[in-house]
Amino acid sequence: MRIRHLPDTLINQIAAGEVIERPAAAIKELVENSIDAGATQINIDIHDGGKSYMCVADNGFGMNREELIACLDRHATSKLPDNDLLHIENLGFRGEALPSIASVSRMEIFTYSKDDRSAWQIRVEGGKKSDPMPSSHPSGTKIEIRDLFFATPARLKFLKTDRSENMAIKDMILRLAMAAPHIGFTLQFDGKKNLNLSPSSQEERLGLLLGREFPQNAMPILAVRDTIKLEGLASLPTYNKGNALSQYLFVNGRAVKDRLLLGALKGAYCDVLARDRYPVAALFLTLSPEDVDVNVHPAKAEVRFREAAHIRGLLVSTIRHALLEHGGRSASSVQSPLQNLITQNQSRVNQEYTPQTLPYHTIEYASGAPNHRNQAMAEAVQNIYNAPHTLPPSSKCEIIPEENNNIKDFPLGAARAQIHENYIISQTNDGMVMIDQHAAHERLVYERFKRQFSENNIAVQGLLTPEIIELDPLKTENLLSYQDDLKAYGLDIDAFGTQAISVSAIPALLGGNIDIKRLIHDIIDEIEDKGSTKLLEDKIFEILSRRACHGSIRSGRRMSADEMNHLLRDMEATPLSGQCNHGRPTYIKLSLNDIEKLFKRR
Ligand code: ADP
Ligand code: MG
Repeated sequence: MRIRHLPDTLINQIAAGEVIERPAAAIKELVENSIDAGATQINIDIHDGGKSYMCVADNGFGMNREELIACLDRHATSKLPDNDLLHIENLGFRGEALPSIASVSRMEIFTYSKDDRSAWQIRVEGGKKSDPMPSSHPSGTKIEIRDLFFATPARLKFLKTDRSENMAIKDMILRLAMAAPHIGFTLQFDGKKNLNLSPSSQEERLGLLLGREFPQNAMPILAVRDTIKLEGLASLPTYNKGNALSQYLFVNGRAVKDRLLLGALKGAYCDVLARDRYPVAALFLTLSPEDVDVNVHPAKAEVRFREAAHIRGLLVSTIRHALLEHGGRSASSVQSPLQNLITQNQSRVNQEYTPQTLPYHTIEYASGAPNHRNQAMAEAVQNIYNAPHTLPPSSKCEIIPEENNNIKDFPLGAARAQIHENYIISQTNDGMVMIDQHAAHERLVYERFKRQFSENNIAVQGLLTPEIIELDPLKTENLLSYQDDLKAYGLDIDAFGTQAISVSAIPALLGGNIDIKRLIHDIIDEIEDKGSTKLLEDKIFEILSRRACHGSIRSGRRMSADEMNHLLRDMEATPLSGQCNHGRPTYIKLSLNDIEKLFKRR
């Protein structure tokens, strides 16, 4: 086989495969070009999810005739004046976006630069460009793209629904607009205005884009270490989402979805948030261009730091510090229960053999003859004798006498006690079981939902007055496109104008006391994250059952012996009841064998 050089158009199409994977990626390149051109106003117009038409118009410095011809050539750029890849100060630098997009679409560019006598326009179709023609464009540049991917139909097939593509475009614009608050943006979908942002301060823009509630529920972040600066807002743990889509990260003004930074953010919150909840954050990292390589990802969405560990450490410690300062009260720590059990038992054993450890010695003395060596010890011992022999209130404990012997034969045994109003202790023939009643109940409701759903039999409860929930137009439209699916789950929603929906019925299993607004927001988060109904199904069950639990048995609810045993029998009869919907166990079984090991009897 002979080696040959590929024709230019093909080379550009290959590049387009990497750089322009969907309309949002093309929009990103065009808007970044407008930002690099010093624009203060950028207007974006989209039709049919970007498939039939996209237009980006700016008031930047434009191009003269020569530049207009050159800009469509591969690797033609005005942005690397010193040929120095270590010193990138613009968003673009590779000179491949325009030729790539032009190779897979029909493109028209209108532009006017002050240093030329007239405005110019040019057409490119599947990579073939016309001669520039005089035009009558005001200062700045307008780029129109029609029939994206017409030249590469395989790529066209991979595109999602118009709505999903619009969502991706909107997300992209939000990220770009957050990093450039001094620029005004408008965004239209199919002739309808979706965004209209006038130039503003950073804080104002974040509030506008992420919701007024965000800055009120966020901690200001600011840290400077050597030449590195980290600033922005990160939410309090209590203000969290069901997916990571509301985490906005910027490196030197460039929106990135960098794994290192996202991982660091997750790490910073790991002690204060459940694994399936995500903080909201907008964080801006500034460092000298030499310390970060932006030339590692085709769409420049990831970067590589020269001192990655340093950056990670800065992010984690700054946020943890802020959490201690602001979020201490809502913080709670989560650790593997068995790990805890073992380490606690181990450390207790160690302490008991360490002479200086007061508590265990006083207990030792307290239970034996008061053989104290000094006055302080004597007082400590006295205090223990005098303390009323009641347990602290959080340890309320109901002991059920061991009379109902036969139910010990069941796998989950007979309930013997409920402690801390959430944990059932049951006795089995060969050991004991601890059940998290809240998690167990959640699982049961979940399975019941699934059963009802598969039998096409979800019980529905109408609301006396429909609940109105305000949403932005895109979210409203997106949610409404799942109207039929949601109805099948027993959730009846309808359009209420263009910026709200009304909820008129909910699944009866949810009971009367649920927070419908929160439920709807959780479902939207899932839809945005997963995008397809199949994946959604499980998630919606999960959300519904989690919500159901808030109205019924949850932690903090006292249960009678009968109720507890009923729950245990129910669990035995329900498939997959051994774990809750998040993969946490619903019960922990300890055989006598395990218990003896813990006590080092074996
Ligand atoms: P890059 O941005 O990496 O340089 P592009 O293919 O995106 O590559 O753009 C090529 C060149 O076209 C840019 O370097 C710039 O000189 C010019 N250009 C593109 N878009 C604009 C615009 N909106 N305004 C002014 N010049 C532009
Ligand atoms: Mg560019």
